[in-house]
Amino acid sequence: MGAGRRPGYAPATGRTPADPHAQFRSLQASLLFCPTCREATPARERLLLVLPSGNKYEYRCSRCGTSTGEKTDQQDTTLILS
Ligand SMILES: [Zn+2]
Repeated sequence: MGAGRRPGYAPATGRTPADPHAQFRSLQASLLFCPTCREATPARERLLLVLPSGNKYEYRCSRCGTSTGEKTDQQDTTLILS
């Protein structure tokens, strides 16, 4: 009796609960997702540019060499450009 509708109720469709790569990423920060390998791979830091404001680094996949990210080091040196 009383088979009322439950708003917001969604039947389970057998979806995987979580992405396995998401666990990897939270465990090891040095692993970056590589679009070519389609998984998180160890990243190699490579100095790309040396700028007065900071060094620019590029992260490359250690397996295939695809660029997986980059960062700029902000050095706290008191450099006054005139
Ligand atoms: Zn790769």
